[in-house]
Amino acid sequence: MIIAIDGTSASGKGTLARRLAAHFDYAYLETGMLYRAIAFLMLEETEGEMDLSVALELAKTFAPEDLKVLEHNKLRLPRVSTAASEISTSPEIREYLKKFQQKFATRPPEKKAGAILDGRDIGTVICPNAPFKFFLIADLDVRAQRRTQELEEMGDLVKYGDVHDRLKSRDQLDSSRTESPLLKAEGAIEIDTTHLTADQVFEKALQHIEKK
Ligand code: C5P
Repeated sequence: MIIAIDGTSASGKGTLARRLAAHFDYAYLETGMLYRAIAFLMLEETEGEMDLSVALELAKTFAPEDLKVLEHNKLRLPRVSTAASEISTSPEIREYLKKFQQKFATRPPEKKAGAILDGRDIGTVICPNAPFKFFLIADLDVRAQRRTQELEEMGDLVKYGDVHDRLKSRDQLDSSRTESPLLKAEGAIEIDTTHLTADQVFEKALQHIEKK
């Protein structure tokens, strides 16, 4: 069983994915973390410069186990988010990360009976045959508020306006790139989370899965 969840940044994909994974006892992969990890390692190696050739070399040798040793809080830093979005325009980098994601989906770790992946191209490119696909959206202002709060809780001093502008430009880049752009997959159920609580989003998704 595979559940694909795509959508814009901070639309609630991760929250929904975690809730569904706990409910069904499925494995969960937050695919954005793969792009963030490569971006983070690149920035360390280049002392803050964007360099796609360095990112490509890192993607070639990147082992998913590497994710475990990276501090997840650091991967969420704004400069890492921006760099992740920039490196994710590279078809070669995407290709290296694709194999791991597909393997995770078809052979979930710990012999779990299913996998849930969230990202931008899960329903369109990584798992186009997933029986359940969701596409989450929410107003930019609400997403910026959520992300600002999330970053503040991690101890980051951020300004709402900056978070808002960064989300907007990341969405634009993710939606307009030629390679695997952010798109609603055919057959995906769209959920607008603007005025919904996490519980309500979960209930909606669950109802759809149980109905089918
Ligand atoms: O989901 P998250 O915001 O952590 O992803 C960081 C960046 O990684 C996104 O802005 C996007 O550019 C890229 N990404 C992607 N495809 C995915 C997941 C993330 O291109 N499946």
